[in-house]
Amino acid sequence: EVVTRFAPSPTGFLHIGGARTALFNWLYARGRGGKFLLRIEDTDRARSTPEATTAILQGMAWLGLDHDGEIVSQFDNAPRHAEVALDLLAQGKAYKCFATQDDISAYRDAAKAEGKSTLYHSPWRDAEADSHPDAPYVVRIKAPQEGTTVIRDEVQGDVTFQNNTLDDMVLLRSDGTPVYMLAVVVDDHDMGVTHVIRGDDHLNNAARQMMIYNAMGWDVPVWAHIPLIHGDDGKKLSKRHGALGAQEYQVMGYPAAGMRNYLARLGWSHGDDEFFTDAQALEWFDLNGIRKSPAQFDLKKLGNICGQHIASSGDAALRRECEAYLAAANLPALTPQQSDGLEQALYCLKERAKTLPELIEKAHFVLTSRPVTPDEKAIKNLDNVSRGMLNELTPQLQNASWDKETLEEVMNGFAAAKDTKFGKLAGPLRAALAGRAVTPSVYDMMLVLGRDETLARLSDAAG
Ligand code: GLU
Repeated sequence: EVVTRFAPSPTGFLHIGGARTALFNWLYARGRGGKFLLRIEDTDRARSTPEATTAILQGMAWLGLDHDGEIVSQFDNAPRHAEVALDLLAQGKAYKCFATQDDISAYRDAAKAEGKSTLYHSPWRDAEADSHPDAPYVVRIKAPQEGTTVIRDEVQGDVTFQNNTLDDMVLLRSDGTPVYMLAVVVDDHDMGVTHVIRGDDHLNNAARQMMIYNAMGWDVPVWAHIPLIHGDDGKKLSKRHGALGAQEYQVMGYPAAGMRNYLARLGWSHGDDEFFTDAQALEWFDLNGIRKSPAQFDLKKLGNICGQHIASSGDAALRRECEAYLAAANLPALTPQQSDGLEQALYCLKERAKTLPELIEKAHFVLTSRPVTPDEKAIKNLDNVSRGMLNELTPQLQNASWDKETLEEVMNGFAAAKDTKFGKLAGPLRAALAGRAVTPSVYDMMLVLGRDETLARLSDAAG
């Protein structure tokens, strides 16, 4: 069974890179009937906050990245991490090192003076236990000193580390607390993680983590270190490229399905497919589709993909998404009536909207109620002549059957009789029905509003 995990450090919001890492792990596990676990790496007590954990969970909830089982707190597992270090000590695969910071500095200075590697070699590695002083010590792993450590990475290929560049890493600090590197390995092992998909900033750690796996005789997980995300200028993603927090995109109104689709495409590809459904992503996602070069975050692409998701969404689902967006953005909720109106209007709105607020803006005509207040541009379309036309048109609509063909016939007939074009009528009609100069099609607005509301708004405007 495939078991993946997302292991964020709760030191801030869920950033775009973290969201993508979570998504890749989620897709990989869910697409294979496996498990996707969540571990909060809260060992750095000074920087970890419960608020950050909440923000990460909210970001994941928005993106629909549900995890299996209980959330694991890495800090809570500290006794177990220490136990493994002591086990290695008992097996002779780790040792107590009594070197003080001064000893280590002196060693390095001397090595430097002799032009040798300053990698610390502790004299305690081979010391007899009966020579141990009664003094504070750290527990170090006995790292292999010759040969190479090869990380078989699904993205990076075989990555070779020279063992003589890796020191005897500390496993337990002198206060008995386990180091992060040990915690990750023990937790991944205990959680049964089979595949570790994470940022390639952790690739160097993998070489050190491998030592612990080998020393404990544990199976090494499949590793896939994914290149980081860059901005559109090719530089590492930073605040100046725009929003970094996944949830900021929720507040900007990008639909979650579109965001998932776009994030999946950030560094992974399936042929030329840009737009796909969750079902397709789950079926297609694989580690060999992950690119080796950094992905570039491109807001325009995100917009295009989100636009396609909006256009292909069902109306009821889209209505719920709009409501969730308003809540997330701290905007007033829709009344039940507005919400119904929105759903009825969606069929004519969703074609060209890239975000939910764009959609809601287009729905203005159905969200507003009488008297419709025309904005500055719309008011220009309601001069005396126009109002006169609306006045004359209204009775002709009174008994027309309320379907698009009939409405078109009436309107075109009216325009012809006035020796003008429908285009001349459209501006005043938009102003009357929506209070705007740019609106969905006049016919669609009339159909959505219905006869009574349409006629009332026309006569309001005709004055
Ligand atoms: N906690 C690490 C981070 O947030 C991830 C460690 C891992 O995935 O092994 O970068």
